[in-house]
Amino acid sequence: MATGKINVSVENIFPLIKKFLYSDHEIFLRELISNATDATLKLKHLTAIGEAKVEYGNPQIEVKVDKENKKIHIIDQGIGMTEDEVKKYINEVAFSGAEEFLDKYKDAGKDAGIIGHFGLGFYSAFMVADKVEIVTKSFKDEPGVHWTCDGSPEFTLASSKKEERGTEIILHVAEDSTEFLEDSKIRELLVKYNKFMPIPIKFGTKTETLPKPEGAKEEDPAPTQEVDDIINNPTPAWTKQPSDLKDEDYKSFYRELYPMQFEEPLFNIHLNVDYPFNLTGILYFPKLTNDLNIQKDRIQLYQNQVFVTDNVEGIVPEFLTMLRGVIDSPDIPLNVSRSYLQADGAVKKISSYITRKVADKLSSLFKNNREDFEQKWNDIKVVIEYGMLSEDKFFEKADKFALYPTVDGNFYTFEELETKIKDNQTDKDDKLVILYASDKEAQHSYIEAAKAKGFEVLLLDSPIVSHLMQKLETSKENISFARVDADHLDNLIKKEDTAISKLSDEEKERLKEDLEKVVQEKGYTIQMEAMDSDASPFIITEPEFMRRMKEMQQTGGGGMFGMGNMPEM
Ligand code: ADP
Ligand code: MG
Repeated sequence: MATGKINVSVENIFPLIKKFLYSDHEIFLRELISNATDATLKLKHLTAIGEAKVEYGNPQIEVKVDKENKKIHIIDQGIGMTEDEVKKYINEVAFSGAEEFLDKYKDAGKDAGIIGHFGLGFYSAFMVADKVEIVTKSFKDEPGVHWTCDGSPEFTLASSKKEERGTEIILHVAEDSTEFLEDSKIRELLVKYNKFMPIPIKFGTKTETLPKPEGAKEEDPAPTQEVDDIINNPTPAWTKQPSDLKDEDYKSFYRELYPMQFEEPLFNIHLNVDYPFNLTGILYFPKLTNDLNIQKDRIQLYQNQVFVTDNVEGIVPEFLTMLRGVIDSPDIPLNVSRSYLQADGAVKKISSYITRKVADKLSSLFKNNREDFEQKWNDIKVVIEYGMLSEDKFFEKADKFALYPTVDGNFYTFEELETKIKDNQTDKDDKLVILYASDKEAQHSYIEAAKAKGFEVLLLDSPIVSHLMQKLETSKENISFARVDADHLDNLIKKEDTAISKLSDEEKERLKEDLEKVVQEKGYTIQMEAMDSDASPFIITEPEFMRRMKEMQQTGGGGMFGMGNMPEM
């Protein structure tokens, strides 16, 4: 047996690791299982290219909790390490990673954003253990190795009788970390971080019910057997080719991702790109209306099938954070702060790629099945409208498929709407006036009056629509929106009056004067045109700009669209 000293400048590095990573102790398991996975995949590769002349077989990773002896075991059947490799990779390489981490973030204090995503690797074991053992045997024909370290820079190295290839990590769980000796806690962590990792992970056994044998009686219990409890799905849908997946596969993967979600997704977008960056994933458009899980069931970010975070702010454009699903990319730098992320070139490219894919998908849904798209419109409009407001690139594309429903249940694209109304809904300056209602019931008589004149009335009731109208008015030439109860109706050139007033012009004028005395001081005007329809005797209107000012003040003004301004859903 040999002892040695890890070459460190900081004597008590382990207490420091512990302190800095306080809030994220649980990532030790993710790190150790990642290492076990890497070691297994390396062996797979080496056997595939003929470099390792051993049987690859069906390797597993096993996690065992020994509560009585306060130990956790993580066992793999990967490449293992020789004595020289332990010296190199554990004593030098792994350690330098830990040291570099401390160097960099000593002053960062508790910036969880940085710390949580730093791959501290092997030494994160010391966040929960006061002693760590490695028992390992390389696939090369060399004796096994036993490394022990109690958290001080000293370690011991001895040979081991281990026969099977692979590595076993033994954590002697520290007094303040005994929560990790609970099966339920470990299971929770495995499900959170390792649910989709590529090598099967065994945690205990479970009872499986077998089919009853032929001729069994009704009351005979079905036979059971104990089988390995594999907690992960090593080949999740997003790692497969879209051509190999059916609609039902996407739906069942959605249920796998969000077991508590009972609503089916509306449609999905399979992301798959390997140049100029590497990214795979599946995004789902959920039914947002009445969704109580909007905050909880979020897009999950993975790195090579290892869960990293479900806070994708900065990576996915803000308007798409309402979607669900998975993004997996080895190219997203995870060990940096949010502000750095936003400036990172790769991240920017990823963000605009995702935006483009979403726009393309919506566009093809619109083209291929318009009827279906119209039916889904109510559920997807908030995302689309919000995207049109916040991303100009998205606006350009969405302008071709964004829909404007009418009070009568028709859906027009902007272009269709323009064509429809250009001959009879212009004002004296030849500006196109788009009439809309925001509340079918409350504005009923105004709607009827406008329809009686042959005008089209849209029904725009989504919470951010006044911002969108503003955007359309500035990005398109010569159009303006006016709510049906605004004072515009009088100025519109109309086809023909469809009803005949029962009052003479003079009588109308007198009535108007009288009424105006009552409402003028409040900024309203009286409009007698409606008398020409049967709907109502006259209508009281408010200038469009005044009403909109009030409304925009309520929904957070025309300024930046922070999430804080997002409408409640
Ligand atoms: P990283 O995984 O980023 O390389 P770690 O600190 O997690 O850094 O691990 C350091 C090194 O130790 C690995 O690169 C690998 O060579 C070796 N190692 C760790 N765990 C295992 C394992 N289970 N099997 C084989 N080698 C391992
Ligand atoms: Mg590692």
